[in-house]
Amino acid sequence: MSDKKVLIIGAAGFLGSHLCDRFVKEGFMVVGMDNLITGSMKNIEHLMSIREFQFYHCDVSKFVHVPGKLDYILHFASPASPIDYLKMPIQTLKVGSLGTHNLLGLAKNKKSRILVASTSEVYGDPLVHPQTEDYWGNVNPVGPRGVYDEAKRFQEAMTMAYHSYHQIETRIVRIFNTYGPRMRLDDGRALPAFIGQAIKGEDLTVFGDGSQTRSFCYVDDLVEGIFRLLMSDYHLPVNLGNPDEITIKQFAEEIIKLTGAQQKIIYKPLPTDDPKQRKPDITKAREILGWEPKFSRAEGLKPTYDFFKQRILSEKPV
Ligand code: UDP
Repeated sequence: MSDKKVLIIGAAGFLGSHLCDRFVKEGFMVVGMDNLITGSMKNIEHLMSIREFQFYHCDVSKFVHVPGKLDYILHFASPASPIDYLKMPIQTLKVGSLGTHNLLGLAKNKKSRILVASTSEVYGDPLVHPQTEDYWGNVNPVGPRGVYDEAKRFQEAMTMAYHSYHQIETRIVRIFNTYGPRMRLDDGRALPAFIGQAIKGEDLTVFGDGSQTRSFCYVDDLVEGIFRLLMSDYHLPVNLGNPDEITIKQFAEEIIKLTGAQQKIIYKPLPTDDPKQRKPDITKAREILGWEPKFSRAEGLKPTYDFFKQRILSEKPV
């Protein structure tokens, strides 16, 4: 595999950095790119001295150039948590739309296969449960989450257009809630928020009454699914996620139990347009990729908790 070259955009982010690790391990030449607005060099510092890894600090929404041949492109750049895309609405729209357009153009020039990271957010606040890929979604285009959801919906449409009009080899993965080491403690999402609060001795903040559901997938499972999808010959969207659904209140209780924390749960207002339920139907991934998640929440939460604990301890002033 060592003559194969892959470009990973969003390389310094949570998912992007795990993908860089996987492709280096598989023997690829890996070119990472990131504009570092939400990513961190800390996530890839262990790769910087490796001969098979190169990093470019750049913003693919503006222009993207890579010298030489390119076999694969993975577009994983975007602010991806609700507080991030609320803080950076225009950049979120631009990387999903202009960034995707630039990368599809690059794929066309280099004759590369391109995989784009889409999301369960294309289903919005879903009226079909669990969500199958043929569900068109229930998205509020002018609500606070619209900047992310609509950018990703546009991204899918643009990718399909390049596939049918320019015969580019494209792959679309719809990623459901994923967690693991290298998530940012301050990204505002439920899992880092709860674990961070438990470790710091703060009460856990559940939004709404906590009856909304999510289904959490461990990052190693997701990376395996993405690798298989890239290597497959299937160009329509595929859901990847763990179908083990849980309410957010139960999830907070699970974190309290796991960490042995003494804190209680406190309730805060539910953010606007917060989806009430979310669970992937992964029939397609099972049939086409022979993939399903292997990690239970208990197995995935342990290394995630250890990572956050380490981060918090190393950031404490001595
Ligand atoms: N949530 C919560 N407390 C927090 C952060 C999030 O109760 O401190 C809720 C949030 O309102 C949502 C669920 O947890 O219903 C998952 O939120 P997250 O931001 O992790 O992901 P997303 O909403 O994008 O699935």
